[in-house]
Amino acid sequence: MKLDATDLRYITSDEFRVLTAVEMGSKNHEIVPTALIVQISGLRNGGLAKRNLVARVRNAKYDGYRLTYGGYDYLAMRTLSKRGTVHSVGNQIGVGKESDIYIVADSEANEMVLKLHRLGRVSFRAIKEKRDYMGKRKSASWMYMSRLAAQKEWAFMKVLHEHGFPVPRPIDQSRHTLLMEFIDAYPLRQISEVPSPGKLYSTLMDLIIRFAKSGLIHGDFNEFNILIRRATGEPVVIDFPQMVSTSHTNAEWYFNRDVECIRTFFRRRFRYESNLYPRFRSTINRKDGEGGAKEGDDDEDFRLDVVVAASGFKHSEQQVLEEYMGAVGEDEDRGFSHSEEEEDGEDLSNDEESIASERDAEKERGEAEHDGSAEDHDLDATARGS
Ligand code: ADP
Ligand code: MG
Repeated sequence: MKLDATDLRYITSDEFRVLTAVEMGSKNHEIVPTALIVQISGLRNGGLAKRNLVARVRNAKYDGYRLTYGGYDYLAMRTLSKRGTVHSVGNQIGVGKESDIYIVADSEANEMVLKLHRLGRVSFRAIKEKRDYMGKRKSASWMYMSRLAAQKEWAFMKVLHEHGFPVPRPIDQSRHTLLMEFIDAYPLRQISEVPSPGKLYSTLMDLIIRFAKSGLIHGDFNEFNILIRRATGEPVVIDFPQMVSTSHTNAEWYFNRDVECIRTFFRRRFRYESNLYPRFRSTINRKDGEGGAKEGDDDEDFRLDVVVAASGFKHSEQQVLEEYMGAVGEDEDRGFSHSEEEEDGEDLSNDEESIASERDAEKERGEAEHDGSAEDHDLDATARGS
């Protein structure tokens, strides 16, 4: 499924009302009952299934609809476009396990990056079987988890950018999407040679230290999430949904894993090894003012984990997301699986294939579900007439 900018313009206001009704209904229903959609929107619920914005679900106790990725994408894009932050959609530049990355532009043709979070795309079924991880919530819908991931990434990116960390400038956020500055760079993973591996190594280790002195651990600090600017060779760090506080119970473990990712990568890729690498305890205990707390500093100002917590991304939401990611990690050994053998890119193509086939399936389901639905015809007639 591709993001379709033209679709944004050609949806009717009735269709939009129905779509909004399905989104509203999704807050309390995994499958939104048809009757509720009619009640909220005052309209029948057809047409959208044809466009794959909603999918009809019949195998439940009742007849209803759920939003598809396409429908949720549509709603987010519409919001960004109404706010004037996004004007057009360009090429897809990345497919991760849990995100799609597009180049988009504003009305002055300035390029930006739109990240659409796709949590639950790969391992959702496995996760769902885990009892209790959602607390009171009955279901961990992919919509909810993807939205949390985008909100968390937004909160962290903002705070990091404001405090001078080398991260993309965050521009806007809606639902499961995040709009940010485009970095003209290559992921470190694609780089076979650097002028001075030692210098880059210490720059990256210093960054890990600087994060930690600010109360934060990236949690996925590896060659995929470090971009090297084409012009200057400077690193830019991306991808923050898994960031944790240095006060986290497993902080030391996350910290060591970040450090180890860099050490391993430099050893394999650049044959560079150093005995110097940061240790968790000495890093967070030493307050020598170097990029961290200074004597007399107000701890609350300097602890960015505290700043983020105060910025509106709730601790409870962090926990829900973390439990999800923990559960996914158990399945996929997230972050540890970047072995040298994978560097031929096979992993990526497999990934794309499974994503593509899943989306085709979703599309087919949407089409099949549309067939023979009287309600769909009603709205189609309305759409043609308007
Ligand atoms: P995921 O969570 O799927 O790993 P990332 O945020 O790491 O998503 O982005 C995936 C890829 O998209 C990156 O490796 C990078 O190549 C590209 N990318 C992401 N953000 C940007 C950006 N702001 N500028 C340029 N490229 C980006
Ligand atoms: Mg990444």
